[in-house]
Amino acid sequence: MSDEKKLTLSGRGTLGVNKGVETGQVRQSFSHGRSKSVVVERKKKRVLHKGGAMESPANPDAPSVTRKTPKSYVPKKPAGEGVQNLTNTEQETRMRVLEEAKRRAEEEAKEKAAREAREAKEAAERKIREAAEAAARDDEEEARIRAETDMKAKREAENKKKSEADAAKKVEEDLKVREKAEAEARKKAELEARAVQLKKASEARQAATTDDSDDDRKPRSKRKKGAPGVPAGQEQRPSRGRGRGDDRRSGRLTISSALSGGDERQRSIAAFKRAQAKKRQAQDASANQPKQAREITIPEAITVQELANRMAEKATMLIKTLMGMGVMATINQTLDQDTAELVVTEMGHTPKRVSDADVEIGLVGEDDHEDDLAPRAPIVTVMGHVDHGKTSLLDALREANVVSGEAGGITQHIGAYQVSVGDNKITFLDTPGHAAFTQMRARGASATDIVILVVAADDGVMPQTIEAIHHAKAAGVPIIVAINKMDREGANPDRVRNELLQHEVVTETFSGDTQEVEVSAKTGDGLDKLKEAIALQAEILELKANGNRDAEGVVVEAKLDKGRGPVATVLVQRGTLRVGDIFVAGPEWGRVRALVNDKGEQVTEAGPSVPVEVLGLNGAPGAGDDFAVVDNESRAREVTSYRQDMQRKRRQAAAAAPKTLESIFSQMKENEGVQTFDVVIKGDVQGSVEAITQSLEKAGNDDIKCRVIHGAVGGITETDITLAQASGALVIGFNVRPNKQAREAAEAEGITIKYYSVIYDLIDEVKAAMAGQLGPEYKENVIGQAEIRDAFQAGKSGKAAGCFVVEGSIRNDLKARILRNDVIIYEGQIDNLRRFKDDVKEVRAGQECGLTFENYHDFKSGDVLEVYELEEIQRKL
Ligand code: GDP
Ligand code: MG
Repeated sequence: MSDEKKLTLSGRGTLGVNKGVETGQVRQSFSHGRSKSVVVERKKKRVLHKGGAMESPANPDAPSVTRKTPKSYVPKKPAGEGVQNLTNTEQETRMRVLEEAKRRAEEEAKEKAAREAREAKEAAERKIREAAEAAARDDEEEARIRAETDMKAKREAENKKKSEADAAKKVEEDLKVREKAEAEARKKAELEARAVQLKKASEARQAATTDDSDDDRKPRSKRKKGAPGVPAGQEQRPSRGRGRGDDRRSGRLTISSALSGGDERQRSIAAFKRAQAKKRQAQDASANQPKQAREITIPEAITVQELANRMAEKATMLIKTLMGMGVMATINQTLDQDTAELVVTEMGHTPKRVSDADVEIGLVGEDDHEDDLAPRAPIVTVMGHVDHGKTSLLDALREANVVSGEAGGITQHIGAYQVSVGDNKITFLDTPGHAAFTQMRARGASATDIVILVVAADDGVMPQTIEAIHHAKAAGVPIIVAINKMDREGANPDRVRNELLQHEVVTETFSGDTQEVEVSAKTGDGLDKLKEAIALQAEILELKANGNRDAEGVVVEAKLDKGRGPVATVLVQRGTLRVGDIFVAGPEWGRVRALVNDKGEQVTEAGPSVPVEVLGLNGAPGAGDDFAVVDNESRAREVTSYRQDMQRKRRQAAAAAPKTLESIFSQMKENEGVQTFDVVIKGDVQGSVEAITQSLEKAGNDDIKCRVIHGAVGGITETDITLAQASGALVIGFNVRPNKQAREAAEAEGITIKYYSVIYDLIDEVKAAMAGQLGPEYKENVIGQAEIRDAFQAGKSGKAAGCFVVEGSIRNDLKARILRNDVIIYEGQIDNLRRFKDDVKEVRAGQECGLTFENYHDFKSGDVLEVYELEEIQRKL
C-alpha cells in the first residue's frame, strides 16, 4: 500500500482507529494509471478543530476527494454544531457522495481516453494522408531528378570530349550513391528497431497501468484495432522524422504517436535529405562536367577579379588557388604577368601572355604580296648647307610644275608636294634641312627614298654639307648632288666634286655612282635634268607599293590651325587614305574630315606617295610620327592611350636615367653578327676629330666595331643630338661643349654626351664601353675532379654516386658536371654531398664520398665528376 495514503478528513493527521470510529476505504483512480485507496474515518466524538484545517489536506495529490467531498458535508459541520455521532443515514449519504465522486472520476477518465483515442485515430489518418502526399511529392521529385540525370547522361553521351576519367568518376559516384543508399538503409533499419523498442516500452507501460485500471482497456483496445489497419509496407518505414522530429515538436513521445509511428508516410527529414542529396548530386554532375580549358589572355598586369572573369571561374576559387601558391591576394589586387600565368596554368587553363605593346600589333598591316605592288613616286628630301639654295630649288621645282601643269594655279605650302616628270611623279618633302630629315628618322620613319644634296657651286662643301652627307649615309639613302647657283660667277662645280670626294661621295664624273646635276634655282637651268636624275634613281630603287589597302604612312608636318584645328600633312606610303577613315597618328587619332592636296584642292582620297593635308585629328602629332588607318574608334583610342602612356613614361625615364656610358651598354646593335658602337664626335680642330675617328675605328674587334657616324668641328648642336638619337649613338665632345638647345635635347631624349680633353682617356673609355656592350666574359676554373666508382640506390627514387676524389676538392656549392669519355653528359648542382653518413660541404683529394644530383641519376662507374667555378673577367679591347 505504498501508493495509498491515509487521508484524514479532519486534516489533523491520522487518527487512531478507536472504538466508536467507523472506518471505510475509498479507492480512487487517476489518469496515467495511478490509483489510490483512501481511508475514511468517521469519528463519533466531537473534536475541536481549527477552521481551515479542512482546506489543507495532507496530500495534495488527492484533490478530487478533498475538493469534491467537503462540499457535501462540510456545511453540515456548523449545522451539526459539533457532529459527534454520525447517523447511519449520514454515513450512507457520505458513502453515496463518495461513490458518486468516484463514478464521476471514472467517467471523466473514460471520456478522456475516448477523446484521446479519437484524436489519435484522426492524427493517424491525417498522417497517412500527409505521407501519401509526401510520397507523391517524393516520387515526383525523384522522377524529375531522374529525368534530369537522364537528360544529363544523354548530353554527356553526346559529348564527344567525354573522357575515360569521367567515366571512372561516374563509377565512383555511383559507388558513392550506392554506399549512401546502403547507409541510409542501415539507418532506416536502426530507426525501425528503435521505433519497435519504443513501441514495446510504451506498451509495457500501458500494460502496467491497465493492470491497475480495467477502464483503460477500452480505449486501448480501440487503438489496437487501429494498428492492424495500417498497411504493413508503411509500417516498415518508421522514419527518424517520427522518432525525433515529432518528439522535438511535442516534447515527448506519446503512445499514440509511437504506435502510429510505423503507419504514416510523412515527408520525413531523411526523405528531405535524400532529395537534397539527389539535387546536390545532380548539381555536382553538372559541375563535374569536363571543365572548359580556355585560352586566357594575360596582360602585363591584371586584377584578380578580371582574371577570374576571363577564366570564367569564381574569384574565391582563384583567391584560394593563389593562397595555395602562397600568394595572398584580394579581389581587387593586381597580379603581375608571371603570377597570373602560374595561377592560370594551375587552374587548368592555357595562359597567353600579351604585353601592353601588343596593342600595336596589327596596326601596321601585313606585307603586301608582290602581285599587288604597283610603282610609286619617289619621295625626295633636299639637304645642304645654309644659303646654298634649298628653298630656292624647291620653289623653283614647284613653280615650274605649276607653270607647266596648271598655269595660274595657286600653290599652297603643305610641307610636301608632287611634281610631274613625264608620266611619272616625284614627291618632294618641303621640309628642307637634315634636321627634319633626321628628326623623322629618329622617330623611326624612313620616308625618304632619295636625298638631294644641294651644294652652292661658288661656295663648295661646307660643314652642314658634310653633316647632310653623314645623315644620308646613316640612313642608307642614295644621294643626288645638285650643284646650285651655276649661273653665278665663280661657280666651280669641279671643286665641289673634289671636295665631295673627300667625304666619300664619288660623283659620276669621277666614275662613282652618285649622280650630280648642275642647276640654277634662279634661272631654272638643269631642273629638268635633276628631275630626270631623280626618276632614274627611283627606277633603280624599284619603288613599289600596294594602293589597295588601308592607308599607312608618315606625318611630315603637323600644326594647330586656328580655323581648322589640328592639321597634319601626311605622306601615304601604302594603301589609300579616304575621307571618313579612322586613323592613328603617333599619340593622336582622328577621323578624316577632309583631305587637301598640295594644290589646295579638296580630294576624297590619297594613294601611295601622295602627300595630303588631313583634317579631323584630335591633336597635333609630331613630324615623323607614323599614321595608320584602324578599324574603329575604340581601337584608335586603345592604341593612342597606350602611346600617350609610353610617351609619358619615356619622358620620366629620360629625366630619371643616369647619363652614363653604361646605359648605352644595353643598346645592343646587331649588324650581321658584328655589333656596332655608334658615336658622334665633335671636336675643336679638324686634326683631333680625325685622330679620334681613326683610333676609334681601329678599336674594335671581331665582335664589335666602333662607327663614327658623324665627326665634325664645332660645338655640339641639337642636330648632333637628333642624329645620335636616330642611331642610338654616343655623343663625344672633344674640347667642345653643347649649346643650350643641344643640352636640353640630350636631356629630353636621354642621349649621353661625354666630354674629354685627352685623346687617350677618350679612347680608353670608349673601348671600355664597347667591351661593356659585349658583356662580361667568363672563365672557368676547375676546382676538383672525382671518379665515379659505382651507383647505388639512395632514397626511394634517386640514385647516388660513390666517388673517389682524384684532384683538388669536391664542393657542393659549386657547379658540377659529369663527363663520360670526355663528353659532358650532365651539368648541374650537387644536391647532397656525403662522407660516410654525414652531410659535408667539401671532400678533399684522396677521400671517398657519395653524392646525388636532384635531377640526374644515371651514374656509371668510370664517369668523371668535375666541379668548377665561373670567374667573371672584364672584357678588354
Ligand atoms: P637655303 O638656306 O638653302 O634654303 O637657301 P635659299 O634658298 O634661302 O637661298 C639663299 C640665297 O641664295 C637666296 O638669296 C637665293 O636667292 C640665292 N639663290 C638660291 N639659288 C640660287 C641660284 O641658283 N642662283 C643664284 N644666283 N642665287 C641663288
Ligand atoms: Mg631655306
